[in-house]
Amino acid sequence: MINYGRHFIDEMDIQSVVDSLKSDWLTTGPLVEVFENALQEITKARCVAVSSGTAALHCAYFAIGLKPGDEVITPPITFIATQATAAQLGAKVVFADVQSDTANIDPVAVEAAITSKTKAIVAVDYAGHPADLGALRIIADKYGIYLIEDASHSLGSLYNGQSVGSIADITTFSFFPTKNITTAEGGAVATNNELLLQRAKRFSRQGLIKDSSEFKIKGEGAWHQEVHSFGLNYRLPDILCALGISQLKKLDSFKFERSKIFMRYLSNLGSVENIDLPLIRKSADPMWHFFPLRVNERTREDLYNYLLKNGFKTQVNYFPVHLHPVFSGQQDLKGKFPVSELFYSQELSLPLYVGLKNTQIDEISNLIIKFYE
Ligand SMILES: *Cc1c(COP(=O)(O)O)cnc(C)c1O
Repeated sequence: MINYGRHFIDEMDIQSVVDSLKSDWLTTGPLVEVFENALQEITKARCVAVSSGTAALHCAYFAIGLKPGDEVITPPITFIATQATAAQLGAKVVFADVQSDTANIDPVAVEAAITSKTKAIVAVDYAGHPADLGALRIIADKYGIYLIEDASHSLGSLYNGQSVGSIADITTFSFFPTKNITTAEGGAVATNNELLLQRAKRFSRQGLIKDSSEFKIKGEGAWHQEVHSFGLNYRLPDILCALGISQLKKLDSFKFERSKIFMRYLSNLGSVENIDLPLIRKSADPMWHFFPLRVNERTREDLYNYLLKNGFKTQVNYFPVHLHPVFSGQQDLKGKFPVSELFYSQELSLPLYVGLKNTQIDEISNLIIKFYE
């Protein structure tokens, strides 16, 4: 069975993990900083490695001081973690519809959703294509609120030539196996704001302060550490950083491979009627995470089942977040975000990962062509 995504692990990755297992460190050791520095090279921002993309979002929201009474504006087309972590801090989740071409949050809808309680706009780079960050930046600055980027899909992407990670006030990544690189479970927070960086880092490490110049309690011995605000344990172990370091060395070739697969789908499926292929905006140089095909909503489920029967397990990204029963207490949100709901009803993610063979791309393409003949 061919899945819509999977990891790529080579001998270099295996050796890197084995070497770390033989070292003195299993969890926080020297490789954490090596990995964070390698991430900085790519994102052009300071980075904190954490234990998942979800943890990264939780840290980012904590870092901006998100609290009960605050509102965050988010897109419905994303994984629930984008919202769940804000809700866990007591914030109110607000939705703004997406743009029909990229499924990224629509700046016009964002501005319409702003209130005096809005603390942040959260953009998700759907499928790896950067959100409309320029327009969102202007709105964030106009209202004096934060721009957060959930870049779980888009490590390695560029927006107007700038690296994802260096654009928003704070950006989060996921290294889950289907994502652009993997550490099994893992994630990172990226920012060039020193204060946000320190707050995110502390939150991920139990809130512990080790620098004596910041102590409020004086006169304790060299063992002393203290806590000024509560944190959690979101550390990424050295063993997993070892994997991340060796994965990052391949990021350029991964991007190239993913781009080749994307282009092959475009050329295979370009002349099929009644389907829509993803496009790339002028501002974007995406590292594609999956291939979001769009088909007639009445045929989508049949196509999914047909491909499954023939050995291809595609995916639908995503069930609109506002329709999850967890929001049903608030108000009836059905129908409120029509672009997202239509997008969901038509979307099917085709396999796109390093190691997918041309023959497999051609095979699934031919199945789609045959299905619509
Ligand atoms: C994968 C993903 C997350 C969560 O990342 P985990 O590493 O699985 O916790 C958050 N947001 C989006 C958009 C994702 O795709």
